This record gives sequence, structure tokens and C-alpha cells, in this order.
Amino acid sequence: MLNAFFGLFSHDLGIDLGTANTLIHVKSKGILIREPSVIAIHKKSKKVLAIGEEAKKMIGRTPASIVAIQPLTAGVISDFDSTEKMLKYYIEKVHQSSSKLPNVPRPRVVIGIPSSVTEVEEKAVIDAAKSAGARKAYLIEEPMAAAIGAGLDVLAPRGSLIVDIGGGTTEIAIISLGGIVNNMSLKVAGYEFDQAIADYIRYNFNLLIGAKTAEDVKIKMTDLSVVAKNVKSIKGKDSVNALSGESIDNIVIRGRNLKTGLPEEIKIDSNDITEALKRPVQIIIDGIKDVIENTAPELVSDVIKSGVVLAGGGALLKGLPELMSSQLNAPVSIAKDPLTCVVRGCVVVLEDKSLMEKVAK
Ligand code: ADP
Ligand code: MG
Repeated sequence: MLNAFFGLFSHDLGIDLGTANTLIHVKSKGILIREPSVIAIHKKSKKVLAIGEEAKKMIGRTPASIVAIQPLTAGVISDFDSTEKMLKYYIEKVHQSSSKLPNVPRPRVVIGIPSSVTEVEEKAVIDAAKSAGARKAYLIEEPMAAAIGAGLDVLAPRGSLIVDIGGGTTEIAIISLGGIVNNMSLKVAGYEFDQAIADYIRYNFNLLIGAKTAEDVKIKMTDLSVVAKNVKSIKGKDSVNALSGESIDNIVIRGRNLKTGLPEEIKIDSNDITEALKRPVQIIIDGIKDVIENTAPELVSDVIKSGVVLAGGGALLKGLPELMSSQLNAPVSIAKDPLTCVVRGCVVVLEDKSLMEKVAK
């Protein structure tokens, strides 16, 4: 009774503690925080200098006295202290900004965490949320939150396959009857794509480019549908090589020439990016194949019917659904607004008591 009363006035929060981005959705108000999961700290005094967007700008530009940390890079909480500080800062920020009335009760929070997080880390996240002012904190596994946010009926006696490609990790999970039946967490995702592009350019053009440039190029230039067409034509014994026949826009990128040590500009096209991304993308597709292979045939047949659903920023790689579909022999689609699936899923869980009982940890 008391809880129901509190629920009416408090601003309960859904939180996506992602490796790349942290999102906070305030029930009935929408997404109020959407910032990079980065924190800049003064080394000696341990004072927090910046969090989020402002801290991200400092990466690669800090003097020796400052560190810019991405505390969740690998999907596990590598730096708990910083994670706690970041979480606290964001919770306090939304709680203050959304509670104009003096007596707004402390919020309940549902936090999506990577499925690879250990029990010790889970407890630490809950403690952090509580010390940041949460009245109650619940955890749900990211692939479950993503599936719920993507609108999949996770409670149905039917297999759904969700693939969440974030910054540091890709989570592949088959869900049925409110539980994760089979899953895999890979450390190959958006950051690996960026790294693969930077490596390719260094190897082929002797040019050193920064992570931000590599990410920009990835977002602007990727078109994997070319490879997908190629896969199809090989299967159909069609002799046309789709890779060589396309005319593609180029992009000029700047970096430092490794031989001369001087700044240089080069032109690359989307064939270069396709080439660079081949390996990491294949690792993800092979991961999905592995998960499918280790799943009961009934669930696999559900997946083949309903298809694979992609979430996370990596889902936006152009042509990825086509390429995956051609290799998996199943339909592949992108969830609506893939970057916000997890946080929206957390809010759905906040609002549905029986769903919460089934999926929260
Ligand atoms: P996380 O859940 O790990 O915080 P996100 O789901 O927020 O990660 O996704 C972040 C990743 O998505 C980054 O690596 C970013 O480069 C990538 N990304 C964002 N938009 C696009 C896009 N349009 N095309 C390809 N990759 C994208
Ligand atoms: Mg995520």
C-alpha cells in the first residue's frame, strides 16, 4: 500500500549501464540522460573532473595528472569506483531535476547489466544505486532488457533470439518463458570495429588515425550489403562478383603518416571498410551460429520463423541484417530505436510487477 502510494509520486528510473553509453529513462518523462560512459578523474586527489560527453572529449587529450576512464569497457566492471561515481552522479542529476516538489520519495531503479557481470559486481551496482539515493534497486540482464525493449514477448513459450551489439560487448541470447535459455557474450563489438578500421588503415596506408576518426568512418562509410549480395550470388552460382561491380563514394580521412611522422590525408571507400570489418563481423555471426547450434530444435525452429532481432548501436551498421540473414538462413531485423532498447526495457519492467518478478535478478 505504502509502496503504491510512493510509486505515484516518485520518479522511478530505468538505467542502461552500457559499455559505451549510459541512459536513464524516468518513468513517464522519457530519456533524460544519454551520455557516454566516461569519467575523468584527477589522479592524485581522485576528484571527479568531468562525466559523460565532457569527459569523452578528454580521451586521448589528458595531461599526466588526469585520467579519462571508461569503467565498463569490456562489459565487466573493470573499475568499480568510477562506475559507482558515475552512477551516483547521474541518479542525483535526474532525481534533482525531476523533483520540483520537496518531498518526492526516493526512486526505485531497474538497471540493465551485462550478463557476464559477477555476483560481487552485481551487489556493488546495487549498493552504488542505493548510496546514490535509490529506495530499491533491481538488476536485469541486458539481453533480457533489450528483448523487452524491442517489443518481444519474452514470457511466451517461444524462442526469441536477440543480438545486442554495443561498444565493448556483443550479447547473444535465446529467450523463452521469461528466462535466458542460452547465451554468449563476446568482447567483439563497436570498439573492435573501430580498431579493425584503424588497423586496416595503418597496415595498408601507413596512416595512424584516432579512435574517433575510425568511429566516424565506420558510421559514415560502412555498407555490408555489398558482401551480402556477394554471398547470395555465390550461393546461387551467379558469376557476377558484386564486390567489384559497385561504384562507391569515398571519404577523406586525416592522420599521421608513420614513415614521415607528418600529417597526411588519404581517400578510402566503402570497399576498404568492408574489408576491414570482415573479421570482427564474422566473429559475431559465428557466435550466433554457435548459440543456435547449442539450442533445442523446437526453439531453433521458432527463431527461424520469427527471425533474429538486432539491438545496440552496432545494429546500425549498414547492411548488417542482410549479411547476417544470408549466412544464418533466417530473417534478421533491427529493433526500433536499437540504441534505447535496454533502457526502455528496464522501464517496462518497472511498470509490470509480474514481469519484474520473473525477469529481475
Ligand atoms: P553500449 O550498450 O555498450 O553502451 P551502444 O548500444 O550504446 O553500446 O552502442 C555503442 C556503439 O554503437 C559504439 O561503438 C558506436 O560506434 C556504435 N554506433 C552508434 N551508431 C552507429 C551507426 N549508425 N552505425 C554503426 N555503429 C554505430
Ligand atoms: Mg547496451
